[in-house]
Amino acid sequence: MKKPVVFRVIPILILVFSVVIFSSCSDDNDDFNVDPTNQTLLEDDKAALLFMLEEEKLARDTYTYLNDLWSINQFANIKNSEQAHMNLVENLLIQNNIEYAIQPIGEFENQNLQNLYDQFEIDGAFSVASALEIGATIEDLDIKDLQEYLDASENEDLIAVFENLQCGSRNHLRSFINGIENSGNTYAPQFLSQEEFDLIITGDQEQCN
Ligand code: ZN
Ligand code: ZN
Repeated sequence: MKKPVVFRVIPILILVFSVVIFSSCSDDNDDFNVDPTNQTLLEDDKAALLFMLEEEKLARDTYTYLNDLWSINQFANIKNSEQAHMNLVENLLIQNNIEYAIQPIGEFENQNLQNLYDQFEIDGAFSVASALEIGATIEDLDIKDLQEYLDASENEDLIAVFENLQCGSRNHLRSFINGIENSGNTYAPQFLSQEEFDLIITGDQEQCN
């Protein structure tokens, strides 16, 4: 017996619709890419990008060093995320024809960042607990610095990248605090306020772009 036409057409319609819906969603998960808005970067924006490139490098280099020392998953994973953060800042520098240089591992143009790295190198060799505390310290500082630059800028490209970096940093901070608390220690925020810190730590892991 022949099916009525409607029963033969409906499955085809469902198939067509699901293909349309699926393909229209699939673009959303691509790697985060900045669509340049052609807004000019102010001098302060340029300085912010150059500084954050090195601060992300501080995170990457320190976690690389701590991973070599202690082989802890968090350092292995998060150092890759810091490389991705460096790439995002670097892309913006390239798009805006801003000259920059990336120093070798463990070397920094900014003296404050160099001093921090040198201190982390010494303290990080002491114990796993101090290595995890260094992780939390870097993310604590990173989130605070990014917030200051976000508050000061109106450049949409910079804001999009820095918000993405900050999202990643909140996840990294949660991860390090977890590690610290699981080993029976505590961490007191050094740069964020206690209130800002608590808000992040009690929040869930976020999906960053
Ligand atoms: Zn980062
Ligand atoms: Zn981080």
